[in-house]
Amino acid sequence: MEQNFDVIIIGGSYSGLSAAMALGRSLRKVLLIDSGKPCNRQTRHSHNFITHDGKTPKEISDLAKEQVLKYETVKFHNGIVVKTSKNNEGFEIETESNEKFYAKKLILASGIKDIMPNIPGFAECWGISVIHCPYCHGYEVKGKATGILSNGDIAFDFSKLVFNLTKETDLIYQRKINFK
Ligand SMILES: Cc1cc2nc3c(=O)[nH]c(=O)nc-3n(C[C@H](O)[C@H](O)[C@H](O)COP(=O)(O)OP(=O)(O)OC[C@H]3O[C@@H](n4cnc5c(N)ncnc54)[C@H](O)[C@@H]3O)c2cc1C
Repeated sequence: MEQNFDVIIIGGSYSGLSAAMALGRSLRKVLLIDSGKPCNRQTRHSHNFITHDGKTPKEISDLAKEQVLKYETVKFHNGIVVKTSKNNEGFEIETESNEKFYAKKLILASGIKDIMPNIPGFAECWGISVIHCPYCHGYEVKGKATGILSNGDIAFDFSKLVFNLTKETDLIYQRKINFK
């Protein structure tokens, strides 16, 4: 596989694919490196995203990947980046399986890691019955008994956000939630 690129993008989910499309269409040689673990991977259906409402996260990224990889300037590599370094020429990127790639520019599109509170079952239910966003998933659970778990005074603001979706709300308010 080719090793030298104009731009390497670490993370090949929605952000990385969007950046790759713009760069690929500008005739930049782009490599996307992705470890296949987007933050929304446990959620069954995505919502509130026009033209994609109700699709699975994978359907959305598969379609995006298909469209982006039609540009011959863009390549995709499955792998985990474990090391990056910079010298006068640009960046050197190393993957877990010791492959090396080089680029003039580097884009970090590796997302965020959700840190789960130390509550049994919480992580398993994340994105399914434990919901992070009322706009993405609130409609699907409207009218159901709902607990709001929040760290500090922001819990009260959340109760106003979901008031229109359910009247059965318990506020589980903690000054300090223990995270793993
Ligand atoms: C549970 C849940 C449900 C959601 N539901 C909705 C919804 O219904 N509607 C909506 O609009 N938004 C929703 N979101 C928000 C949406 O998923 C995020 O805004 C979006 O995924 C962010 O895209 P991203 O590309 O920045 O990050 P991510 O999608 O998280 O992708 C980051 C990518 O980088 C890769 N990566 C990380 N580190 C490395 C590395 N070292 N080497 C190689 N690759 C790496 C990961 O494997 C991953 O593929 C939801 C989020 C969550 C957590």
